[in-house]
Amino acid sequence: MNKTVTCIICPKGCEVSINLNGEEILIYGAGCKRGESYALEECMHPKRNVATSVRVLDGHLPLASVRLTEPIPKEYIEQAIDEIKRIKITAPCYIGDIVLTNILGMHSDVVITRDVMVNHERGGNDCGRNTGESTT
Ligand code: SF4
Repeated sequence: MNKTVTCIICPKGCEVSINLNGEEILIYGAGCKRGESYALEECMHPKRNVATSVRVLDGHLPLASVRLTEPIPKEYIEQAIDEIKRIKITAPCYIGDIVLTNILGMHSDVVITRDVMVNHERGGNDCGRNTGESTT
């Protein structure tokens, strides 16, 4: 099997080729050992992070952005997104808050990446949440 991946570990972006020939693994094009490891893992067990959002009740925004603390195997991404869609939290929430631990048993947590304050803390309708009601 031959596969070429672009290393994303640093801005150099080396094109790394992996040649799996029986038990022999040949790696070409990596500028360093970290890139070799990255390319090998990407070839054998590709992983991805997930960046999405969760629903926030009573927040100045209806959603808070989240991501995973660790990438998970690519084939579980859809299942992880379904799991995250079910999460509902109540404002306030802050960057770094964990809203779900150990998603799908993958040793990765879902973490907030944007603060969402309680709606009244920002003064009614000027907070981006249109309730259709007057605040005066
Ligand atoms: S192989 Fe090394 S030098 Fe090349 S992009 Fe990856 S980390 Fe950077």
